[in-house]
Amino acid sequence: MENVIILGTGCAGLTAAIYCARANLKPLVIEGVLPGGQLTTTSEVENYPGFPEGIDGYTIMNQMRIQAERFGSRYINDNIKSVDFSRSVKKLNSENNSYKSNSIIIATGASPRMLGIPGENEMFGGKGVTTCATCDGAFYQDMEVSVVGGGDSACEEALFLTRFCSKIYLIHRRDELRASKIMVDRTLAHKKIFPIWDSQVEAVLPDNEGNVRGIQLLSKKTGKMSEVLCKGVFIAIGHIPNTKPFHNSLTLDEAGYIVPKAGSQVKTHIPGIYVAGDCSDHIYRQAITAAGMGCQAAIETERWLAQQ
Ligand code: NAP
Repeated sequence: MENVIILGTGCAGLTAAIYCARANLKPLVIEGVLPGGQLTTTSEVENYPGFPEGIDGYTIMNQMRIQAERFGSRYINDNIKSVDFSRSVKKLNSENNSYKSNSIIIATGASPRMLGIPGENEMFGGKGVTTCATCDGAFYQDMEVSVVGGGDSACEEALFLTRFCSKIYLIHRRDELRASKIMVDRTLAHKKIFPIWDSQVEAVLPDNEGNVRGIQLLSKKTGKMSEVLCKGVFIAIGHIPNTKPFHNSLTLDEAGYIVPKAGSQVKTHIPGIYVAGDCSDHIYRQAITAAGMGCQAAIETERWLAQQ
């Protein structure tokens, strides 16, 4: 029986682990399918405070892990498939194990939705395909890039990229953006952004060194194929929160994000169950905001356990 189990080892989970461990709660941290979370898929992090020269995603996550371990966090590599939050002792089940705890911090993150096309996985990361303009945009100084998607994220990514890139193609599968009006207006008015409507990306094309040289498009209007030359492909077609095990026990919104209790960012409607990071936050989705939520969740957990 544990005091607190933390699900996830991204910025939210590991920050929660540091705080819980320093509060002597000896948290058990269940790592999940992507130990270290989304940052481990980013080549360099330049916007996390304290690293003026930048730091690579793997290193920063590994440092957080070591920091949490130093104060007594324990790690286990497992993947929770179902939960039972109906009693005061909370139960978590993976394929082969079950766990019991007084409190739980859910920091399972979200996974970017991908296109599932040839070249996408092969060139993901340092080779030109990415899902985060804030993380990787600065690497495309004076280059032409493509952003795929038609929602607020795609507009936000395209607008952010105007700071660095010479030209941004915005590839959307329809002839109308889904994003909020203000974002649509800003995006379409920007002289560096060139929308390509009614177009589906069929493949990411490599150059001789295996880096992105462009994308292949299928026009949904004419059925014709074409190529767009670009050095970077920013996929912004939404995220899928990793919240499947909680569908029957917590309040989720339409997109599957855990909805916190009114008046709090990290409390759920079940006492002793807290959330942090991208499994709940679909607005900011930054390493630093996830870390902040992890800290809040740990402090709430500590106070709640002390009251019991
Ligand atoms: P979203 O609103 O779900 O938009 C996803 C976009 O990707 C849509 O345009 C969709 O096309 C397209 N898409 C989805 N699957 C695709 C596929 N397989 N191939 C090609 N295109 C595909 O996701 P989001 O933009 O990440 O936004 C998520 C939520 O966060 C929204 O509520 C949004 O308002 C919010 N958000 C807010 C801000 C802000 O306020 N600053 C910033 C970012 C996000 P269709 O339009 O054809 O469906």
